[in-house]
Amino acid sequence: MKTKLFSIPQPWGHEQEILEVAELLREGALVGIPTETVYGLGANALNPDAVRHIYEAKGRPSNNPLIIHVPSADWLSTYCADVPETAYRLAEQFWPGPLTMILKAKPIVPRRTTGGLDTVAVRCPAHPVALAIIRAAGVPIAAPSANTSGRPSCTTARHVLEDMDGKIEGIVDGGDCSVGVESTIIDLTEPVPRLLRPGGMPLEALEQVIGPVTIDKAVTSEPKPGEHPKAPGMAYRHYAPHAPVTVVAGEPERSAAYIQSRATPDTGVICFDEFADRYPEQIVEKLGSMTDKAAQAHRVFDALRAFDQTEVKEIYAQCPDPSGLGLAVGNRLKKAAGFHVVEAE
Ligand code: AMP
Ligand code: MG
Repeated sequence: MKTKLFSIPQPWGHEQEILEVAELLREGALVGIPTETVYGLGANALNPDAVRHIYEAKGRPSNNPLIIHVPSADWLSTYCADVPETAYRLAEQFWPGPLTMILKAKPIVPRRTTGGLDTVAVRCPAHPVALAIIRAAGVPIAAPSANTSGRPSCTTARHVLEDMDGKIEGIVDGGDCSVGVESTIIDLTEPVPRLLRPGGMPLEALEQVIGPVTIDKAVTSEPKPGEHPKAPGMAYRHYAPHAPVTVVAGEPERSAAYIQSRATPDTGVICFDEFADRYPEQIVEKLGSMTDKAAQAHRVFDALRAFDQTEVKEIYAQCPDPSGLGLAVGNRLKKAAGFHVVEAE
């Protein structure tokens, strides 16, 4: 299959291309689409065959459900049952945006889309191209991250091409993803809302609107064999570059020194900008300033992917503290490391 590249220049006025992509999706095709979090591998969420192709193209286990993308909270009642009032409050505050809600699914949502569950994950993305495409398609778009399963997520159209060239009908280039990590997932089907995956919407912001949120165990530690996290995707090794990763936690000056004391010329280093010149013999990917977690989120996947173009044998990564977006950045790094984390003394 030849993958067609759609380039939609700002300010996104190109109706014709949007309509062409929407038509492709309606017909059951797979198209890589930009969102503010990461690139999604989009398909018509109501078409089980199209959804099956998503799993095939990504090599994704079929029990790992997909997020469906809608253009506004008005669509919730069509696809979800017993929608709690908290869902509308969160949507009012944070949609369009990097927040996914788990709700009870109505039968119209195919079980292939929900990985066999009776709940469904729903999000309204804050990207003008994604919104225009979904509106034009007139159906919810199932869109997992557009990477091959297990690889770092895609934050540029080039990353999508690296993983999906020849496997999907098209890729829409909407520029770099502004947020850079996936959405925060919150489960609203329990009496107390539960954070299933940290992401682009900080936990603290959610708690300001709906009060205390339980943090699922899979957010901070690796699920043990036989354990089944509520977000099945959290069970899998993820985001991994080819070389093994060690995350170095702790105060930045100490983690920088720890890495310095161990790095060899074969080591790749992911570090805060402030420490980049400590590693003159290493290949360094800067994560952003240690005080700018939004920049770190924006950079983290590109930094992880970049080492696959090099010969490094191991990668050390500095890790931000868990407040704000630090919870998501740290989670992605730790998952990339298979939870191999050391504490710098
Ligand atoms: P991705 O599309 O790669 O961002 O992955 C979507 C994430 O959402 C995965 O971790 C899924 O396990 C999770 N997810 C999707 N639907 C559900 C659901 N109904 N219940 C729990 N987690 C879900
Ligand atoms: Mg993913």
